[in-house]
Amino acid sequence: MKLTIHGAAKTVTGSMYLLEACGKRVLFECGFFQGKRKESLERNKSFPFKPSEIDFTVLSHAHIDHSGNLPNLVKQGFKGPIFCNHPTRDLAALMLADSAHIQESDCAYINQHNQKIGKKNAPIAEPLYTRLDAQQATQQFMSVAYSRAFDIADGITVTFTDAGHILGSSEITFDLREGGRHVRLVFSGDLGRGHNDILRDPTPFEDADILIMESTYGGRLHEPQETANGRLCDIVKRTLDRRGKLIIPAFSVGRTQQFVYSLHELTKTRSIPKIPIYVDSPLAINVTEVFRMHPDCFNAATNEMLRHNENPFGLDNLTYIRSSDESKALNDIKAPCIIISASGMCEGGRIRHHLRNNIGSAKNTILMAGFCAPNTLGAALIERRPKVNIFGEEFDVKASVEMLDAFSAHADQNELMGQLSRSTGSMGTILLTHGQVDQAEALANLIQVKHPKSRIRIPDLHDSLDL
Ligand SMILES: [Zn+2]
Repeated sequence: MKLTIHGAAKTVTGSMYLLEACGKRVLFECGFFQGKRKESLERNKSFPFKPSEIDFTVLSHAHIDHSGNLPNLVKQGFKGPIFCNHPTRDLAALMLADSAHIQESDCAYINQHNQKIGKKNAPIAEPLYTRLDAQQATQQFMSVAYSRAFDIADGITVTFTDAGHILGSSEITFDLREGGRHVRLVFSGDLGRGHNDILRDPTPFEDADILIMESTYGGRLHEPQETANGRLCDIVKRTLDRRGKLIIPAFSVGRTQQFVYSLHELTKTRSIPKIPIYVDSPLAINVTEVFRMHPDCFNAATNEMLRHNENPFGLDNLTYIRSSDESKALNDIKAPCIIISASGMCEGGRIRHHLRNNIGSAKNTILMAGFCAPNTLGAALIERRPKVNIFGEEFDVKASVEMLDAFSAHADQNELMGQLSRSTGSMGTILLTHGQVDQAEALANLIQVKHPKSRIRIPDLHDSLDL
């Protein structure tokens, strides 16, 4: 039995692992690598194995750095089933179609632009995959509920348990039986912070021979979660005092629904006045619909709200915006309001238009609430640069920029350690992935002190391990 780490090694993107056991080749995660454009394109285009030789794929959650390259895998010959749970299937169907759409329109724009500027011999830009490929991939999804152990092959049993990170996010347990041996491989997926407003806490791990654990914030502590609504309330009030607008770049999955939930709470308790709130992201609207369809994944408090006919994702002063005309009309609003729009890193989507229109006024606030990769517009805002570039034009940042990491969807160092200490049984080998080296090393040092019997490794890309 053998495990090879083909992605998210000493970095946070491009998760991909190959498991060879019981005569089968099982790929778990098939994420997009996101970084510098050229390197990303190369990494995503070709696989370090033959896609047609993979028997099964297993997916922990729908985020694109875990699922984004599945249509390409299918396009290049993977014919088997993609196992995940029900909400992940629904979310991934939306997100893969969206990813294909973005690629198709980006390529069309580049090709048109090259024609326009007379670069007739420039290579034709082609998407990695199209909406048709994404649709084909979703036809290969097979979904299973949480906590139902199922056999994908003779000797390979898979169980999904809740990772509390986004809707449908799972830890994956592989029980492998070969030649009279039983090996348990546990993959944490991305782990949530726990005590989430909407989702359940991550499930403690059980007795793993090998544990692969994420380490995104292995060396960092977030603001306490209990302070999140209070901070948000202050930021809203300060912006209203200036008669300004609050612009929130937010990821379509998870963060947007969290903001809507928190604004709902603050309005209900009259901590903030009823002002117009707009969610301007068609993907976020569709994702919110998927949330509504999966109450089985909510925590007890959210289910209690639903039982009382309260919609945690709706308010009478909240408008979901689909069409681009309605989106453009938001520019004409002069009165204070809140606009939530994607993407969270401000690299694509409608948020860039809202930033362009509102960044130049000291009345307004831009609220950054998530991880932004280096070299993104979001990162420039977090660094509080006095000038930023939007659509090739330079803008003075006069709006105030606030940071709020208490809504992070990833566990911090204490929460990762807490997850380990709640786990039962022993963890033989712990592989730390999905984190920059400094974050993984900080976590490794701490785990070594608290769990001296475990062997801890921070694997390099394409490292293999005999199980
Ligand atoms: Zn994730």
